[in-house]
Amino acid sequence: MASEVDIVVVGGGVAGLAAAVTLAKKKLKVMLLESRSILGGRARSWTDGVTRDPVHIGPHVVVSEYPNFFKLLEELGTREKIVWQPWRHFVTMVKGRQEHHIRTMPLPAPASWGHASMTDPFVSWADKHSTVPAAVYCLSLSEKELLELDDESGADFLRSLGVTEPYITHFWGFLSHAILNVPVEEVSAAALVRFFRRLVGRSSMEMGFAGCGLGELLLPAKPLLESMGAQVRTSCQVRGFLGDENNCTGVVLDSGEEILAKLGVISTLPPQTLQPMLPEAWLSAWPSLKDMEALKPCKYISVYIWFDRKVSGGRQMWARTYNKDDLNCEFYDFSEIYSGTDAAGKLWKERPSFIGSNIIDSGRLQEMTDDEVVQQTLREIQETFPVASDAKVLHSVVNRIPMAIHRPVVGTEKLRPSQQTPIADFYISGCWTRTDFPCSMESAARSGFLAADKLLRIGRGELSESAIPYPDIALSARLVGALEVVRPWLLTPLFNWLVRWSSGQPQSKL
Ligand SMILES: Cc1cc2nc3c(=O)[nH]c(=O)nc-3n(C[C@H](O)[C@H](O)[C@H](O)COP(=O)(O)OP(=O)(O)OC[C@H]3O[C@@H](n4cnc5c(N)ncnc54)[C@H](O)[C@@H]3O)c2cc1C
Repeated sequence: MASEVDIVVVGGGVAGLAAAVTLAKKKLKVMLLESRSILGGRARSWTDGVTRDPVHIGPHVVVSEYPNFFKLLEELGTREKIVWQPWRHFVTMVKGRQEHHIRTMPLPAPASWGHASMTDPFVSWADKHSTVPAAVYCLSLSEKELLELDDESGADFLRSLGVTEPYITHFWGFLSHAILNVPVEEVSAAALVRFFRRLVGRSSMEMGFAGCGLGELLLPAKPLLESMGAQVRTSCQVRGFLGDENNCTGVVLDSGEEILAKLGVISTLPPQTLQPMLPEAWLSAWPSLKDMEALKPCKYISVYIWFDRKVSGGRQMWARTYNKDDLNCEFYDFSEIYSGTDAAGKLWKERPSFIGSNIIDSGRLQEMTDDEVVQQTLREIQETFPVASDAKVLHSVVNRIPMAIHRPVVGTEKLRPSQQTPIADFYISGCWTRTDFPCSMESAARSGFLAADKLLRIGRGELSESAIPYPDIALSARLVGALEVVRPWLLTPLFNWLVRWSSGQPQSKL
């Protein structure tokens, strides 16, 4: 016999939790269905069987511009568990033993980032100068103009604006790899420029981490939802969706059980999982469904190594300057990040280093064994912290993750679909849907709020505004963007001249 609720939410990751909490607060009968035994999806964590330490699926960061994700954490009462780096510190970049601490100055954007850029020891002044006209152009763009860049690769776009190859690789290549998870030669210029505007268009962006297992941030969701009358079913696999050609009436589970939804179904499944589950009949009502095939997964390998002593000199996080032949992008010492005490009651700060790292776009490394991955990761840690060569490795874990996010390659930014679909009472959500933000926990949270808002508006005629919109870039950054009118005839020739002039000068540091 079929059971009936108001709304079924499929998937218990960040997007599903954001949608379910919003709708349950409206006193609607919500059922959340999650195939795994734990909630959290791609933001889950677990206890390591050997050390009893919390291990994330892979290390995650949050940034201060995550309003929707923090709103969800506030609902769950876990926002305080985020640990922030020291004041205005964004990231420490390393090349061998050389470090560059990127922090913003208390100045209006984008001048606040100027000092970090000028003191960057890894590129020449000529290269730094070459990016100024491109930065002005990026700051001048509207959201509509930005989307028009989707058919061009980030690298081609930057070359057309005169950015030198070393700067494309060093700065833009790093952004593209670390944030968007694809090489700058392949990334959609629209996705790259959108993130750049968000980064330098604000006076400061700070980076933080979960001060506990990542999934612990989301753990209170189940009791909270249940206290509001919602049902949360884990280890519950949805097999398909019910309905006719152009409407959705519920879901069917692997067990054959049917659950009817009076107001609608919100799917938060990633595109590759969702598409094969949809009824054939929906294809004609929803022709753009086929476009989702272009959203391919980006694989990750996350590596965790437990040492017998401190090796990272108190660093919480550091990232390697971009080199396509490297394995790892960034490293985290969780003994410096986790708050309070471990399972044995020992203060985390007094624990030996426990380092996690991410190997992004790891499809290239299929052939490497776990042992080879750990050995190469160790070498990369030792390059920066030679003391790690004397340390003993007590334990290591390698997680191979089939998808961290989808690859935002050329042509995919404009394919990100709205949460409202052409199928009545069927909504989609998830970090990959249209949120004006790169795929991330923030995008997932916003997509969940947007789906809930749309369902309430269409299904109940209620004006709900749970999704927090993003503010425009700072006025000072818009004023810099206004220089676009003089870029072609003044800024570009001036900076081209500076590039040529400074090419002949020895590199100086501020
Ligand atoms: C290693 C790694 C590093 C990352 N780093 C960062 C970072 O630093 N910062 C950041 O913001 N983001 C990061 N991300 C991305 C971020 O984790 C995701 O964007 C976000 O968690 C996606 O949430 P979601 O709810 O959209 O999707 P998901 O978390 O994928 O949720 C979908 C849920 O549906 C469930 N499901 C699947 N099939 C079924 C079915 N048939 N029936 C029922 N349930 C089903 C899944 O188990 C899952 O729980 C990273 C991701 C990974 C993996």
